[in-house]
Formats: sequence, structure tokens, C-alpha cells
Amino acid sequence: MANPIFSSLPTTIFEEMSGLARTLGAINLGQGFPDDLGPEPIRRKAADAVLNGYNQYPPMRGLPELRQAVAGHYARHQGLDLDWEGEVTITSGATEALTASFLALIQPGDEVVLFQPLYDSYAPMIRLAGGVPRLVRLAPPDWRFTRAMLEAAFGARTRFVVLNNPINPAGVVLPDEDLALLAELCVRHDVTAICDEVWEQVVFGAARHRPLIAYPGMRERTVKIGSAGKMFGLTGWKVGFLCAAPQLTHSLARAHQFLTFTTPPNLQAAVAWGLENSDDWFTTMPRQLEASRDRLAEGLRREGFAVLPNQGTYFLNVDLPASGVAEADRAFCLRAVHEAGVAAIPVSAFYEEDPVISIVRLCFSKADAVLDEGVRRLAKARDLSRRAPSPTA
Ligand code: PMP
Ligand code: GLN
Repeated sequence: MANPIFSSLPTTIFEEMSGLARTLGAINLGQGFPDDLGPEPIRRKAADAVLNGYNQYPPMRGLPELRQAVAGHYARHQGLDLDWEGEVTITSGATEALTASFLALIQPGDEVVLFQPLYDSYAPMIRLAGGVPRLVRLAPPDWRFTRAMLEAAFGARTRFVVLNNPINPAGVVLPDEDLALLAELCVRHDVTAICDEVWEQVVFGAARHRPLIAYPGMRERTVKIGSAGKMFGLTGWKVGFLCAAPQLTHSLARAHQFLTFTTPPNLQAAVAWGLENSDDWFTTMPRQLEASRDRLAEGLRREGFAVLPNQGTYFLNVDLPASGVAEADRAFCLRAVHEAGVAAIPVSAFYEEDPVISIVRLCFSKADAVLDEGVRRLAKARDLSRRAPSPTA
């Protein structure tokens, strides 16, 4: 017999759409990854570490040089004062950091406030830990929560809140007042925040990423999660950062030691070097991505698509009903990949309950020619759907 938490799950929407794109030879604007090779100096450091470095088990909590580099990076970029020895653990991606947090901290029956749209690993792994999700539904175009929404969700059994900011797939970077409000509720209800901030460096224009751990009362009750994969556009590397006060870190490290125990030392060494030597990357990378975002948005608008605002992440959203598409987002995405040769992600997949919305998420960390061709193919899918709308999702 299998555990129903997993046996009842579909394959993730990212794998489903990337699999279809591979099989059908479609352009992939679905799963979030850049189509270039990533920063060469960092890749060279990794190659050098494989050939000439130490390739045996590193220390369980991560290479000291990487933990120091993580603390240094967050001090320079976010003004945080993390003690690398007591407060930083290296994990195999943010995915492992999230699971380690849920398994280490949640006790059966604890309520966990979650915001929909919801990154796909959260709810199953929270349930595995015995947690009970309490869903707060965010909606376009601003995807913001209100005091009333939080007050309705936080109750006597609430022990945790999971916040993804900047939000995938919404492309929103939460403003100061929303974070201050959430911090106020956490302190009032003695709630610990698990903050998935993997998109913290992929922020555009006037938007600013503010870590929840820096808000009054949050320093001792926040787990901050980052991902080198997102910071350096090397999504397959799976090197994550788990930062929290020593009491929390003590338990997080105990979960980490039986999830993966350690993370490949060669990649850790390369990420450490990258964090120490790439402050210019964190300026140029968002600028280039912003230009790609604008190119995709303009192309889509020219074709008559309604594009939602974006301030961060690799993702731009298209509102299907406002674009004259009657089909549900999943049906449209299946049509787009099968009939027009372009893969995208239906945002309804990020809702456990009441999807209601019909929005398609497009990844813009791609070459200009790919984005332009993607727009052409999406317009073709839209025209096909108008001729013969599919009622099924
Ligand atoms: N959280 C969010 C919101 C993400 O978008 C992603 C990956 N795109 C992850 C977690 C997982 O990060 P990693 O690849 O470092 O495990
Ligand atoms: N986070 C990536 C995205 O949103 C996907 C990661 C994954 O496939 N697990 O596209």
C-alpha cells in the first residue's frame, strides 16, 4: 500500500509540460529555467572543484566558506546579521529546505496558513508532517492579502505561515505594508514564518525585496529560504540556503541530516565563489531579464493578449478571458503545446481549491527569438481556440 498523500498526486505541472515540450518538440515557456548556460566563471569554478577539489562528504551543514558567503551576501544585499555558524545550513535546493522546515518544525494537528497560488511542494509535504493547511486565496491583478483575510485565517491552532515572496507564479513583490501586517499577525499569534524567498534577486524596476525576517519581532520566528539555482540562473544545481535563529536551526539541521545529509561539495564551492565575486551579476541579471519581460509583454499586447503586471520572478501572466479566450487555462495550455508548439503553465495548477481564474504563466528567461516565436505560436493557439473552443480542462 502506498501513502495516499503521494499516490493521489499527479506528476507536477512543470514536469508534465516540459515532458510534452520535449516529446512534441515545442518551445518551452512553461517550467522556469533560463535557456542560456549560466554565468561561465561560476561553472568553471564548479568544473575545477570536480577535478581538483574535495569530492567527499562535506560538513553536514555545508562548507564553511559557503555558509560565510551566504551570511555575507545577505548582509550586503538585505542588511541582515546572520551568524554563519549558528544560523545558516546548506541544503539540496530550496525544495529540500522547505521539506526540512516542515518536517523539523510542524507537529501533528498544527495549522499552517498558506497563500494560493501555492508552490506545488508545500501542501503535500506539510500534510506529510501532520500539518493542516489553512488556505488564503489571492487573486489577480494585485494578488495581495488584507488584514481581514489574515485575521480570518489565523486562529488558536495556527503555528506556521508559509510565505513565498516574490510570488511564483504571480510575479508580485509584496510591499512593505503587507509584510508589516503579516509580521504583526505572526507576533500576535506566536506563529513561525517559513519564507520561500528563492526569487529575492529576480526583482525589477522600483520594486524592492524585503525579507520578512527583518521585521519587528520576526528575527527569532522566521526561517528564510534561498536558492543558488535562482540567484545564478543555474536551476539544476539545487543548492539551497536555510537561515534561521540558532534554536530553529538546531531542529532544521536534524531534519536535513536525514533528508540528504549533505549537498555536492563541488557545487557548494562554486556557489561560495559566485556569492563573493558576483555583485555586478545581481545588477546585470535583473536588467537583462527585465528587457526580456518587456519584449514578451509588448509582443503579447501587439497580438491582443491581456498581460498582467510583473515586478519579479521569470514569469509573465496572461489573462485568458480578458484576451478573448473562453477556454480554461489548462485546456488552453494543452492545446497550445499540442497544436501550436508552445508550452506554458496554467496558473489554476497553483490552486488547491476554487481556481476560478484562467491565467497562463509564461517564462521569459529565454532568447529574444524564442520569445518572439512563442508569441506567434500563442496567437495561433488563441485563434484555434476561438474557432473550436474545448470545454474540458
Ligand atoms: N520555491 C519556489 C517558489 C520556486 O519557484 C522554486 C523553483 N522554481 C523552488 C521553491 C525550488 O527551488 P530549488 O530548485 O532550489 O529547489
Ligand atoms: N519552480 C519552477 C517553476 O516554477 C519549477 C521547478 C520544478 O519543476 N520543480 O517553473
